[in-house]
Amino acid sequence: MKLKWGQTHWNNMNQKKLIREAQKMYSAIISMESVLKMIGTTEGNNPFWGESGSAGRALNKSRQIIRPLEKKYGDDYQMYGNFYRYANSLLFEGEEKWEICPKCGKMIGSISDIGKKCTESFGGKKDCLGIMRELKWKDLEPVNSITPLKGKE
Ligand SMILES: [Zn+2]
Repeated sequence: MKLKWGQTHWNNMNQKKLIREAQKMYSAIISMESVLKMIGTTEGNNPFWGESGSAGRALNKSRQIIRPLEKKYGDDYQMYGNFYRYANSLLFEGEEKWEICPKCGKMIGSISDIGKKCTESFGGKKDCLGIMRELKWKDLEPVNSITPLKGKE
């Protein structure tokens, strides 16, 4: 399908798909800003990092997206960050895959305990009968969430 002037490939998406796209781009911007800040700290004297340098301008753009959200959501920003920590595993290929116990909501990343009993999994809950499985979107949705994300490991 050829786009007309002013059209984007987002124009015909439903709201759910559009939100996923926004989450994906926002998550990528957070990751890229983090890397830019890290590199900029060591190479800050290079004009590349100045206001008119391409790295400086890229960092400025990411700040214009992220800072208003941090300002608006304040303390909830941490919960927002938690969401993305787990959502990254669903939004992107090659990201750390999170697993969850569907009974108690315990989540783990970095290691694979899929199919193991929660009690035998890393940091497992005593007496839990759950079996570890891959994290799914429904686990992150407030209505179906097994457990609130705030403060989860
Ligand atoms: Zn469990």
